Amino acid sequence: MDCAARKLYAAVAILALLLSPGCLGFHSRQQQPAELKEFKETVIAMDTLVTIALYVPSEEKAHKVFSEVRNELQRLEGILSAHQPGSDVIAISAAAGKEPVKVSPETLHVVQTALQYAHITQGAFDITVAPVLRLYNFDTNNPVRPSVRELERTLPLVDWRKVHVDEAQRTVFLSAEGMELDLGGVAKGYITDAAAEILLKNGVEFGSVNAGGDIRLLGPKPDGNPWRVGIKDPVNPGANNWFAIVEVRGGALVTSGDYERAFVEDGVRWHHIIDPASGLPASGASSVTVLAPTAEIADILSTALFVLGPEKGLELVESLPETEALIWARGEVFWSSGLIPQEGRGDVFYFTVKDK
Ligand code: AMP
Ligand code: MG
Repeated sequence: MDCAARKLYAAVAILALLLSPGCLGFHSRQQQPAELKEFKETVIAMDTLVTIALYVPSEEKAHKVFSEVRNELQRLEGILSAHQPGSDVIAISAAAGKEPVKVSPETLHVVQTALQYAHITQGAFDITVAPVLRLYNFDTNNPVRPSVRELERTLPLVDWRKVHVDEAQRTVFLSAEGMELDLGGVAKGYITDAAAEILLKNGVEFGSVNAGGDIRLLGPKPDGNPWRVGIKDPVNPGANNWFAIVEVRGGALVTSGDYERAFVEDGVRWHHIIDPASGLPASGASSVTVLAPTAEIADILSTALFVLGPEKGLELVESLPETEALIWARGEVFWSSGLIPQEGRGDVFYFTVKDK
């Protein structure tokens, strides 16, 4: 495996992501076209703050694009949310073990993509983890450790092979009663891409979408410089404390971390990314950042690599085109061969992406 690894002194990683378009104290080498101005808007979708930044000539144009993005994200939330009554996800879970459910093309696409990656990751990514995840009560103020008996009883319901898709009929069927669909590991990435598509459709050449750390960039910054994405130092996660910065010229960058929806008991961090084989929180990594052409795939892979751990995870990433990963696991930092570490950038890891 062609990957590099380097010791870090810190033991535990809690990671957050900070998209820093030009606010990290680096100077632009070129000018952005004079006719373009930056506009920003934040929308709430899928329980996430989605910030859209775009560079267009007029406020009128920006408002038009923002309004279209807002409508589209609202529409997609109505289909993909696990909380909105009437969504495809709720209907599919309600009909588990009973009958196939006719779904929208978007749901069909997301489920098919998720199943494809369940296959590729040998089940590390599994959109049927919901019944096990529910045992932890992460959605309440009182998260708990489930008992071994509860886990043993519930684990048979977690099996992506029991998700049946009929493309011609456009249906999804969970074949065992009690199964539930959980698109939490992919939907945020999907809606990030959907927002980016609206920008592209409107002829926006420069812009970014950041859905709580799921980031999609339309290209480099308008002045031609790369975007610099900072990954916060988990040991000291105050503002502007990052352990790594990645220079990117487009595409998507998504991070999964064990600090979100988590609690610590007996020195163990119990968190929301589940190893489908055991029903326990995945212990393969503390944080995973994946770069890929789309946020949907980067989102899936960041969750999957968390379960797979750095060795198997990087082996997978090396086999996929235009895909890179940066992993913090067991107090070490690992990265794939297309990420090039730059020296002389102070205490932080600083990566550029190899041109392929
Ligand atoms: P992310 O923050 O993208 O890593 O997604 C985490 C979310 O994905 C969790 O809150 C669950 O809804 C879901 N999830 C947890 N474990 C898995 C898994 N092994 N495969 C697919 N989705 C998962
Ligand atoms: Mg994910």
